[in-house]
Amino acid sequence: MIIKFTNYTDSIHDLDFDETVESVGLGKPFLGDVKLKVRMDKSHSQIVLNCDLDTEAELVCDRCNEEFVGKLNRKFKLIYLFGEKPEDSETPDLYYLSLENDKIKLNGDVVDYAVLSIPMKNLCKENCKGLCPHCGTNLNHSSCECGKEEVNPVWAPLLKLKNNSKNK
Ligand SMILES: [Zn+2]
Ligand SMILES: [Zn+2]
Repeated sequence: MIIKFTNYTDSIHDLDFDETVESVGLGKPFLGDVKLKVRMDKSHSQIVLNCDLDTEAELVCDRCNEEFVGKLNRKFKLIYLFGEKPEDSETPDLYYLSLENDKIKLNGDVVDYAVLSIPMKNLCKENCKGLCPHCGTNLNHSSCECGKEEVNPVWAPLLKLKNNSKNK
């Protein structure tokens, strides 16, 4: 994913990229295509890229333990200033374009932000029923007999506590 910015006038441009994960340099758990929408705001002194990144990744559901393909999104902004990089510059996502540059290479940032877009918690679907804490049946696919026991309502909160700690 490369923008040859010298081909663009000083104004706002919308660019679309659609490439395979391999060609961008992403490995597992990513699969399929990487879609990047870029709104480029180019002026005489800088280029600002507002990026909207869509990827798909093979994730494991935290509730039922099954693999599923999740859609991930991340928005980020990259700023490129024309000129030489000052020695004390440490600002992340701020780049410098010297006179020899005519291209912006996006793969490195796309890989970084794709990895950041993987959530800490993953659910195969919003209402995933998870596994039965007693027999391990995946309740999305089938039901088991465990839930049919009558639970004395007095003990229900305790039982819930016990099940929660088992799931961790
Ligand atoms: Zn699930
Ligand atoms: Zn069960």
